[in-house]
Amino acid sequence: MFQQLRTLAIASLALFVAACSSEDTPPAQQGSPTDSPAEMTATPAADFDNPFGMAVEQLSDGVYAIVSPARGFPDPQNLGWNSNTAFVVTGDGVLMFDTGSSPRIGEALREMVRSVTDQPVRWIINTHVHGDHWLGNEAFLADQPEKILASDITIALMHEQGYEWISRFNSMTDGAIGDIEPVPARDAVTESGSHHFAGMEAVILRSERAHSPGDLALWLPEQGVLLASDVIYTGRPPATFDSDVLGWIAFLDEMIALEPEVVLPGHGHIADAQAVVQMRDFFQTLWDLVEAGFEAGQMDYEIAEQARTELADYEALYPGVGETLGEAVSHVYMQVEAALF
Ligand SMILES: [Zn+2]
Repeated sequence: MFQQLRTLAIASLALFVAACSSEDTPPAQQGSPTDSPAEMTATPAADFDNPFGMAVEQLSDGVYAIVSPARGFPDPQNLGWNSNTAFVVTGDGVLMFDTGSSPRIGEALREMVRSVTDQPVRWIINTHVHGDHWLGNEAFLADQPEKILASDITIALMHEQGYEWISRFNSMTDGAIGDIEPVPARDAVTESGSHHFAGMEAVILRSERAHSPGDLALWLPEQGVLLASDVIYTGRPPATFDSDVLGWIAFLDEMIALEPEVVLPGHGHIADAQAVVQMRDFFQTLWDLVEAGFEAGQMDYEIAEQARTELADYEALYPGVGETLGEAVSHVYMQVEAALF
């Protein structure tokens, strides 16, 4: 089973590579990631070399986000910085939630933490194996973190795919990631559950496979904040190349039940509980459409054509989604087929 998962993951990585090389990525630094229901403050870049133009936004008491304005994949303009990061100041140490695509990005993120607190980063959570969520780990080793957490599934994949992600991202960014060594997470999360970080409660949510194998998300019950990583997207289409859509829907159902006040997606602007429902509805509609088409004997390209019509309204939520539906339908088509046999 696990071997099968690995094989699937490698095949998926190849698909991602194909998807990335054909995607016309929008330029970075467009749009403003501030349309959030939450009350937030944006801190302008501190007085350090900040080539990314990062800013800190407060999500709740002690909880901060650093939101990338990019709405596509790593590219030479965004220098690889296309994903969101969060951090929580606990009173005795900082909990980091994802570290970006490179040590250079990680260093800039670390400077942003420094602009809020002098406390060291004691814990890191890496949500999944995709390189834009953990290749910045190296930058935080100076803080001597006590734990670098990821799911057991993700840790195995980090060891297997680390160099592949580095080389892929370097070719996508004209070398902006650098000649680096991967620093995989080392503390395995094998199930969902409540943890305490210097007395602060945080619930780590673990999925076998949703957006990708072994996704983690973080629920902060006292603050009402859900750090969802790539299980939720806003302002751009979700990436399905590594997904299990039924698992994804189930994970979104868990998140809906939490009734979060603030939601930070892995990519896109800060949102609220509505974004969770919207993402779930999108995938349920997509799944139902592909399943019905499959049962009617349609080919995936025929279903994709229908999907572009029936899901046209989602263009407002996920601009560019129409162009990705051909691939998304192909991925779901294989999953529908596998679910039936
Ligand atoms: Zn991802």
